[in-house]
Amino acid sequence: MSWTAERVETLEQLWRSGRSASQIAQALGGVTRNAVIGKAHRLGLMGRPSPIRDGQAVERPVRVAVPRVAAVPKPVVRPPVVRAPVEPTPITPVAELAGDASATILTLTERMCKWPIGDPRDEDFHFCGGANVPGRPYCDHHARRAYQVTTRRGEEERKAG
Ligand SMILES: [Zn+2]
Repeated sequence: MSWTAERVETLEQLWRSGRSASQIAQALGGVTRNAVIGKAHRLGLMGRPSPIRDGQAVERPVRVAVPRVAAVPKPVVRPPVVRAPVEPTPITPVAELAGDASATILTLTERMCKWPIGDPRDEDFHFCGGANVPGRPYCDHHARRAYQVTTRRGEEERKAG
């Protein structure tokens, strides 16, 4: 037998319809399955879409990350803030708070430590300025130093001081 145009056409139709080579050979008659395959190959029909290939071609089931339904926090309803009346903060002289705050002869008050710090001739000479111990011209810290000094030096300077 020979591949007439008619038979070739039949082969093509059957091939494209998805028939197997052996089925086509049977339909055509007089040809073997291998002959059908060989002819189909020569006709360029081998690349027919096979169901399997199609299955692979189709995008694989992509694992779509299912977004978890996050627990949406409910808007917190806050009670209106009731502002308490702000009491005026008593203003405390800074010099009383700062132990070693520099105090000059101009800012020195009776309640501030008069312990001299530095050389009186220097520009940065100042007084301790800390809160003094009641009855003493110095703060607690300097009063002790003064006491030690006067103890060493004697009564005379203590009277003067
Ligand atoms: Zn002092």
